[in-house]
Order: sequence, then C-alpha cells, then structure tokens
Amino acid sequence: MINITFPDNSVRQFEAGVTPLDIAKSLSEGLARNVLSAKVNGKMWDAMRPVNEDATIQLFTWDDPEGKATFWHSSAHLMAEAIEALYKGVKFGIGPAVDAGFYYDIDTGDITLTEADLVAIEKKMLELAREKQTFERVDVSKAEALKYFTEKGDEYKEELISELEDGTITYYKCGAFTDLCRGPHIPNTGFIKAVKLTSLAGAYWRGDEKRKQLTRVYGITFPKQKELDEYLVLLEEAKKRDHRKLGRELELFMFSDTVGKGLPIWLPKGTELRLRLQEYLTKIQKEYGYEQVITPHIGGKQLYVTSGHWDHYGEDSFRPITTPEEGEEYLLKPMNCPHHCMIFKWKPRSYKDLPFRCAEFGTVYRYEQSGELHGLTRVRSFTQDDAHIFCRPDQVKEEFIRVMEIIEIIFKALDFKNFEAQISLRDPNDHEKYVGTDENWAKAEAAIQEACAEKGLPAHVEYGEAAFYGPKLDFMVKDALGRKWQLGTIQVDYNLPERFDLTYIGADNEKHRPVMVHRAPFGSMERFVAVLLEHCAGEFPLWLAPDQVIILPVSEKYIDFAKNLQSYLKKSDIRALIDERNEKIGRKIRDAEMKKYPYMLIVGEKEATENQVSVRKHGQVDLGTMPTDDFAAMIRKQVEEEQNKR
Ligand SMILES: [Zn+2]
Ligand SMILES: [Zn+2]
Repeated sequence: MINITFPDNSVRQFEAGVTPLDIAKSLSEGLARNVLSAKVNGKMWDAMRPVNEDATIQLFTWDDPEGKATFWHSSAHLMAEAIEALYKGVKFGIGPAVDAGFYYDIDTGDITLTEADLVAIEKKMLELAREKQTFERVDVSKAEALKYFTEKGDEYKEELISELEDGTITYYKCGAFTDLCRGPHIPNTGFIKAVKLTSLAGAYWRGDEKRKQLTRVYGITFPKQKELDEYLVLLEEAKKRDHRKLGRELELFMFSDTVGKGLPIWLPKGTELRLRLQEYLTKIQKEYGYEQVITPHIGGKQLYVTSGHWDHYGEDSFRPITTPEEGEEYLLKPMNCPHHCMIFKWKPRSYKDLPFRCAEFGTVYRYEQSGELHGLTRVRSFTQDDAHIFCRPDQVKEEFIRVMEIIEIIFKALDFKNFEAQISLRDPNDHEKYVGTDENWAKAEAAIQEACAEKGLPAHVEYGEAAFYGPKLDFMVKDALGRKWQLGTIQVDYNLPERFDLTYIGADNEKHRPVMVHRAPFGSMERFVAVLLEHCAGEFPLWLAPDQVIILPVSEKYIDFAKNLQSYLKKSDIRALIDERNEKIGRKIRDAEMKKYPYMLIVGEKEATENQVSVRKHGQVDLGTMPTDDFAAMIRKQVEEEQNKR
C-alpha cells in the first residue's frame, strides 16, 4: 500500500500502481469522468500512469490551467497524427500548448498548406478523436529513439533526442502516431469534441533565423462544441479590437521598415494620448513623493558590466556603438536602472533622505527577432513608466502599499475593473541561489504579502518564481473580453545596490545598503496603450481621448462660428476639431460615430445666432441644445470625475 496525500493534506491509502484516474474514481464518478492529468510529487503526470510510491497528488480537469494545457498539448499530437495521415513524409518539430490552444511546427517539404488544408485536417482530427485512441507511454533508450527517427527521416526529432540524457527518454503512442514527448496527455482522444485550426505562420526551427523555416499550424480544441462556438465569437470581437488595426484607423501610431523594424512612431493623435497618460501618472507620482529625472538613451558599456546586464544579456542585445576616435563603447540603454543607481550614488545619502523615489519615462532598446515583433506589444524600442525607489529595509512594505495605491488609481481611471496580482517568492527548498541576506528576504516577502492583504488585493503566491535578486509582485488586468494581460511590476532588488556599492548613513552613523525597488505601473507606454486599445475598443474615456469633441457645421456658412467655438473650447482645455468637408450633416455624423469621438457638436443657424450647441454623445445619444458655456462646464466636470475615481 502507498500513502496518497491530497491538497487539503488529508492522506489515504491505495495499492501501489494505482493511477490518478483510479484515485479520482474513489472520490467521485463525476471527477473521474473529467480528470485530464495530475501532478504527482510535483511532476506532471498522465491520468492513466501508475503511481508506485508515497505521493502528494493534485488532479486537474478542464477547469484548471494545467488541465487545459494537457488537453491542448494532447490535441497537438492529434493534429500531427491527422497531418501525417493526410500528407506523407512530413516532419515534425515541436508541438506545445500555448495560452489559448496549441501549435505544431512542421516541415511540410514540397507541400504548401493552405486554409483549405486546415479544414481537411480538422475533419481528420475529429474522425481520429472519435476513435478514443489512448496515449501510451513508453520508455525508450536513446539509441532506440535515434534509430526510430533516423529511419523515419525526421532530423528535427533526431536533433532533440541527441540533446537528451539516456534513461530519461519517453515516447507517446497515439493511434498510428509516435512522438518523442515527456507528457502528460489526456486519457484518450475522445475528450476532444470540437476543433478549430486558427492560423498558419512561418517559424524558424528553434527560433533561429539561420535555420530552416517551418510551418507553424495553430489550433484550439474544446471538450464541448458550445465552448468552441463561444470562443469563435470572442475571437471575432478580438479581431475588431486588434490594437494594430485600431491604431491605424484612429491614426495613433505607425511602423516603417525604413525607420526600422519594431520601432514605433507615435503620430500626433497617439502622442496626445500618450502625453495625457504620462501627465496623469506624473501628477499622481508627485503626490506620492516621486522626483522626475531624465537620462540619456545610451550608456557606457562599463555601466552595464557593473550592473551585470552585459554578462546576462550582452550577447542578445544590440551591438555596442563605438566612438570614431577614442574607440569608446556605448550601449543603447536596455534599462534605466543603472543610470538611476548612479543618481543615487551622486551624493551622500542619510537614512533621513530615504526613500528616494526616482522616476523617468525612460526609453529603452531591446533586440527582438524580427519574427517575434508584434504591434506595440513586442517592439525593439519602448518607454517604461519607470521608477526606482531606494529605501531602508524597514520601509519596503510601506513603499509597496504606496505603489499599489498608484496602480489602483490608474486602473480605476481607465476602467479596468478586474485586476489581480501574482507574488513571486523564493523556492522554499533552495535559499542558496539568491543574493541578499536571508533576513532581508524574509522581511521583504512578508512585507509584500502583508501589503496585498492590507490593500485587499487578490493575489496568489508562486514559490520559486522570484528572480535571483529579489521577490516581486506582478499585476494582471482582465480586459473587456475577459483576456488577462500582464502589466505593471514591483520588483525588490538586493543585487544592484551591491554591485554599485550604494550606501546610506544610518542613525548609528554606519554605512548601510539601501533596498532598491523597481516599479512600472503600466509596464511600458507601448504595451499599455495596446492593452487599453483592445480593452476599450478605441472608445477612450473622455479625459484621454485625443480628440474629445468634433464640431459639425451643417453648411459652410457656419465654419466661422465653428472656428470661434473651437478656440473657445481650446481655452477651456478641451480638444476639439472641425469637420469642414462639404458633406451632408447625416454623413458627417455617421463618420464621427465611426471615429469614436466622444462628443459631436452640430452647429447651424439657431446655434450660431444664440451661441449654443446641439450635442450628440458617441453611441447615438442626443443630449439636445445647450449654451456653449454649459457644454464646456459639462466636459470639464466629466474629465475631473473620470480622473478621480479613487
Ligand atoms: Zn506530448
Ligand atoms: Zn529597474
């Protein structure tokens, strides 16, 4: 008999060789029908794989992220089986689960897969799924595995196997398809009831531009057709909200290969939006005791040797820039932290001066492979809403609370109603790999958890996820479509103060190390604007809209009145533009609705003579006619309310 320990710490005895599925059966028939995989002694495990020793166990169903990952990864096998059945001689790279679905990288040889092929593959997958094929786990020797794939002629699997250690290699057989895989997989393919292959893309083998480009087939599967239908509706809506599409339509930003791949260019309207965000954050940060600084876009190489970034990321960064005469080496700034450390070091600091909160909208440059670039979310240049807090160990908790308050204020002002946090702490079994004293870590880890509890922020703890230099807190928001986005981070750092030998004089007149806290509520302006666009579908809150008002004269006769009105509004800090086109008013209204301007002011004879405006709110709400003063006051009031939802 073996002892099985459940997540609630209860222990039950089972015969050795029991499977997670058997264990599920002993708990409830319902669970047994739904169990997809398990975690046994911390390792992911097939529901059908025997357990032979005392173990802790967690069972996963579709409702758990782990269960979904197993389901989708198993679907990648099923897709590969279907593809191999339909197209002889194709070779397979890797086929993992992703956030929503799975992909498989495939060398299709002379065949070019098209959308029509995807439909045929879907059909084949469903056919094979109905056969309820099991996933059979087989241990193989390295020699055997190499032989199998050499004979099959799949050099990609051969390469993967050659890097594995003998004695650790497993196959999974599903129907006619055998794959090199660690597992786990779902009990059988019958769980897969609905399939959609969503797209085709090119992907370099192992992400290396110098190697062969394979075909990446993306797909998603569900245990119920209804769930696929709902997903497809969501996908359609997500396409409409794609920030790249909205960015073009609303004239916010552009990209140009001539300027450089992955280097966003902010157009006037996008710049207006971004500056509003920056001004808003700056204002709140001032209230919270931050001091703004500006540092250059490049830094001497030695700065990053000292910080350790050169050793860590140097190889994967833009190459150094050299001066023509002296041969000095500079790097495009990959982060602002080292510059801010130098600001701290610039003069002696006393314990009474702390915390020192140093903020900068700092533009940084990081090399990303061109294939990885994506709109504003994966770029090579971006501006962090960065700040570094240098404080005493006893101030960490207070500083976390203050940063959390700032983030809360911003999220509220932008109508993000659902946000949560992840706390990343040390691996409790290995305190060796971290820099900084045990005492300080313990203090900071407790401080973060207490700060979340005090602020009532829903947070879950991940052990072992902390960076080697300190624990951190990540903020996740859920957008209007229920998608989760990771945004801001608060990160404790015991490493850089050490490397830069930062000190302050304590009350005891001795030198002490400050704690450094990195924080960026938005993450970066680029990423944040992308998320915001997809969240609000381009319908920005009034305070943020690049153009808050559009004035629609009913005919050319009223353009002068419209211009006077525009400059009057400008003086009231209201951003207005005029549709001067010689179009019918109905057309102008329709176009303005399309462009999502929050307010339309229709002006004609009556309005011009009585200094009034006829107001329509976006979404076809007629607010009637009112004096221009009243309209301006109404707008100012709405902006103020939106910015102060604290
Ligand atoms: Zn697998
Ligand atoms: Zn930093």
